[in-house]
Amino acid sequence: MLFGQCLSAQNTDQKVILITMDGFRWQELFTGADERLIDDKAFNGSEGLKSEFWRDTAEERRKALMPFVWNFIAKEGQIHGNRSLGSKVDLTNGMWFSYPGYNEILTGKADDERVDNNSKINNPNITVLELLNKTTEFKGKVFAFGGWDVYPYIINEDRSGVPVNAGFKLAEGKELSEKEKFLNEIQPQIPSPFETVRFDAYTHHYALETMKKHQPNLVYLAFNQTDDFAHRGDYSAYLKSAYTTDVFLKDLWEFTQSDPFYKDQTSFIIATDHGRGTQPVENWKHHGAKIDGADQVWLIAFGNQVTVKGEAAQNEQLYNNQVAPTILKWFGLENLGKELPGDPINFSLAE
Ligand SMILES: [Zn+2]
Repeated sequence: MLFGQCLSAQNTDQKVILITMDGFRWQELFTGADERLIDDKAFNGSEGLKSEFWRDTAEERRKALMPFVWNFIAKEGQIHGNRSLGSKVDLTNGMWFSYPGYNEILTGKADDERVDNNSKINNPNITVLELLNKTTEFKGKVFAFGGWDVYPYIINEDRSGVPVNAGFKLAEGKELSEKEKFLNEIQPQIPSPFETVRFDAYTHHYALETMKKHQPNLVYLAFNQTDDFAHRGDYSAYLKSAYTTDVFLKDLWEFTQSDPFYKDQTSFIIATDHGRGTQPVENWKHHGAKIDGADQVWLIAFGNQVTVKGEAAQNEQLYNNQVAPTILKWFGLENLGKELPGDPINFSLAE
């Protein structure tokens, strides 16, 4: 018997890159810069920002903001959550802020009883990273990187054994690459404007160096700048952070396709922990259960396990709690997620 009796992983060659973009609205993903904000000085908008990201149509605007997503992923993968086309992605947790949002994405289950704040408390729930790291096949092949200094608790680094380089942590280990040494040198020299979050560029480059060195099968990259600049009401930095994340996505994809360990064996899944408000206009700065629409999110996937469908344009309802079971399925470990409330998303289904 081929299936059923095998309790261990099936797809040992599979690699997955999970990426989150903190509090990035579906509105900007699908329609680009917001007309009400882009040149409003109250939100650091300007004519300069307008020339960079304003175009006459939503299709052009979104391409200007995230060119890799809309020129490449839209042709090679799937983009869900454009509510004006009927595609919906929502949270199942009732909190609509970060720790509960990441808990839902990473563990496959909302836990409003126990996960209801952003404090540095070790997660009682088990993430897909931990599940994978506890299998014999993938032990030591799971790494996480993030901008926010709470990820070591969300991922429960102590219990899971998954190394989490987040917050202002430097690269550690005996054989640091030249890039890691340089990143370690400049990270403390470039003060972050945020108390608990570093710039995304450190997260990105530390992750890439680890991929080159340790060849993890599952890598989690958590980018946070979009949310922090939004809270500050800085629309210019919010848009530029989204643009930069797009550059990182391209960089990661090109790396995986240039490296024989990853080439043609890697799938990407990209999500956000929550949405943000839209009405009144200044609610773009906020999220949380009192902000209308902050439970509306989006989901992107591309790579070897994903058929080409482009921008989803049919009525559908997906939830963030389906991300973890989908990743387990990609690794052939769907048994480990069978108690979870959400089903794996069938990204490989041909229509
Ligand atoms: Zn926030």
